[in-house]
Amino acid sequence: MGDYDVIVIGGGFSGAVMAERFANLQNKRVLVIEQRAHIAGNCFDYVNEAGILVHHYGPHLFHTNKSAVWDYLSQFTEWTPYEHKVLAAVDSKLVPIPFNLNTLEMMFSHDEAEALKQCLIATYGFDSKVPILELRQSPDAKLRELAECVYEKFFVNYTTKQWGCSPEQISPSVTARVPVVISRDDRYFQDRYQAIPKEGYTKLVAKILAHPNITVTLNTDATSLIKLDVQSRTITFKGQPFNGTLVFTGMLDQLFAYCHGELPYRSLQFDFQTLDLEQFQAATTVNYPNEHRYTRITEFKHILGQKSAQTTIVKEYPQDYDRLDPTKNVPYYPIFNDQNQQRFDAYKTLVDGFTNIITAGRLADYKYYNMDDAIANALNYFVAKDS
Ligand SMILES: Cc1cc2nc3c(=O)[nH]c(=O)nc-3n(C[C@H](O)[C@H](O)[C@H](O)COP(=O)(O)OP(=O)(O)OC[C@H]3O[C@@H](n4cnc5c(N)ncnc54)[C@H](O)[C@@H]3O)c2cc1C
Repeated sequence: MGDYDVIVIGGGFSGAVMAERFANLQNKRVLVIEQRAHIAGNCFDYVNEAGILVHHYGPHLFHTNKSAVWDYLSQFTEWTPYEHKVLAAVDSKLVPIPFNLNTLEMMFSHDEAEALKQCLIATYGFDSKVPILELRQSPDAKLRELAECVYEKFFVNYTTKQWGCSPEQISPSVTARVPVVISRDDRYFQDRYQAIPKEGYTKLVAKILAHPNITVTLNTDATSLIKLDVQSRTITFKGQPFNGTLVFTGMLDQLFAYCHGELPYRSLQFDFQTLDLEQFQAATTVNYPNEHRYTRITEFKHILGQKSAQTTIVKEYPQDYDRLDPTKNVPYYPIFNDQNQQRFDAYKTLVDGFTNIITAGRLADYKYYNMDDAIANALNYFVAKDS
């Protein structure tokens, strides 16, 4: 291993884009250290034994309104247009979500649906979105009843399964996002750009990392090679002082040996099955708010419109994260509450004591980021520095 100006910990989108920008814009020599056996982080995908492109850490659908992110990624990939649609199994029917006027008509009698539609349009306007919690507080009894129905049948049990606690215990930043859509738009996302990299995310990330200044090391936990001394604010890499830039996209509690305690996460277990069927379900994803231990089933061949005699599905089982249990040790979603935020802030203060550590990404920021947020944050780091 030669000398490096920059060491990036983590080979997901955040780490890959940071590495590429340092190499390309500043001609730095960059080492990327990834603990897993593959790059692309949670967006890792591969073609399985049935010839179907599957997403190893759950379905990843790219969508953004950020032109800079779209233009940046388009240097490295062609796209297959794809607009995500989701159905929910409710009252023995499969209905579109987010809950919209089509869903309303499938759930209520003709007259009830008409009355509710008129009322929603008159109150909020056609083509608007009302967060479910706002609708629950409507002065109109009919709308409150509708909100109650959506809350009970679509939201409460799903949320309880997903987070392992009741909706009241969850930050409003999570619960407030669930909308009732007052239009016939069945799409799950409304962003301007919606598409899947033609050859998948892993190939896209490989192209981002293909710069000659970048070296990638897999199967290596960086905390075994890199040590931080909080007192002297120095970094060593393989026992030698490292004065370059360290970009960290992992968990801050791990970086500082859990000195302020652990940052809690929600984890997931994925049950993949390849079936001798041409098609298992009518949409890419079907949510099961009220039945089963799993929250949703995704059938991958819908995403790229792949044709084959077999199909691969994945069921998602939410579970608590436990870093010491190999079946539960992938951190997926940070758990937002004041106590966890304070713990995170304490770690962030330790990071800020070092002048040469940059933190980036969903783990290091302890936030939920969509792919485009993670990429935009990495790009913005350089926009801010160059201007
Ligand atoms: C189930 C699920 C579905 C999602 N679906 C979507 C979607 O449809 N659309 C969308 O836009 N976004 C989606 N996301 C979000 C998306 O996964 C993230 O935006 C993206 O992965 C963020 O990239 P990242 O590089 O910040 O983090 P990650 O992809 O998690 O990459 C971090 C990398 O750092 C490595 N690492 C950590 N610590 C160390 C260490 N000590 N040493 C070496 N390596 C280390 C990890 O192994 C990992 O590979 C979804 C997320 C989940 C959990």
